Amino acid sequence: MSILKIILIVTAAILCAGALIATIVYCVLRSARKNRANESPKRNIPDERKENPAANLAGKEGEQAVQWCIGKTVVGKQYVFNNYTFFAGVYSNEIDHIVVNKHGVFVLETKTLGGTVTGTEEDEFWQHDKTNGQTEMLTNPIKQNATHAEIVGKLLDGAPIIPLVVFVKNNCPQINSDKIVPLSDLSRKLNYGNDLLDSAQMAQFAKILEENDAHLTTEQHLANIRRVNDCLKNGICPACGGKLVLRQGKTDDYYGCSNYPKCTFTRKNLD
Ligand SMILES: [Zn+2]
Repeated sequence: MSILKIILIVTAAILCAGALIATIVYCVLRSARKNRANESPKRNIPDERKENPAANLAGKEGEQAVQWCIGKTVVGKQYVFNNYTFFAGVYSNEIDHIVVNKHGVFVLETKTLGGTVTGTEEDEFWQHDKTNGQTEMLTNPIKQNATHAEIVGKLLDGAPIIPLVVFVKNNCPQINSDKIVPLSDLSRKLNYGNDLLDSAQMAQFAKILEENDAHLTTEQHLANIRRVNDCLKNGICPACGGKLVLRQGKTDDYYGCSNYPKCTFTRKNLD
């Protein structure tokens, strides 16, 4: 065998071994990278980042779940209003859902809270123990919804108003109140009780709601509340832009509009 042949064979052997080692190294690295990629969603995204986008969506998804449960308007049977906005004086109001059927006018507030919620009908604030271990206090939603129900009651004079706070995640067994309902029981609750309205009365109340529908988006509604509050803070009449002046009433002082009698806006306090 010539020296040249030996050199060629040795070179070929080295190249083959090199290629084999390179292939093994490549495979090992690739497998390691794949394992890391599989682990990363669990390991790298902190809890709060996982939960925040969900929390942002939760409200909307909750309302959609309730909307789906209620169903649509069926003339003569039930009339449904979702994200209903209307003005009571200068203030706009937004109500998640109103259902008019033969059992009454249901004013629904949707709550999409996870974890555990505790409180009573009378408490100002409820305790919300979140799934991430944090605790927050929230305004008693029964009281919040009672205000909505009262305003709707004024709009629909004489209507039997039934306020309900719907817990989309059904996590309200520790709250003892007939003004609370888990989503799983909403359908039954909407179809329960005596017949209080005939089809003509239902249609009449639905017509009033339609006529007063302000068709505001949530952003427009919130902007209106901010505008009214800013006006009051600056002594400006939120109804006409006039000046608010302190007047003497029979029993108490109050703020009235400088454009009275053209504008009859009054307010007890400006804060
Ligand atoms: Zn005014």
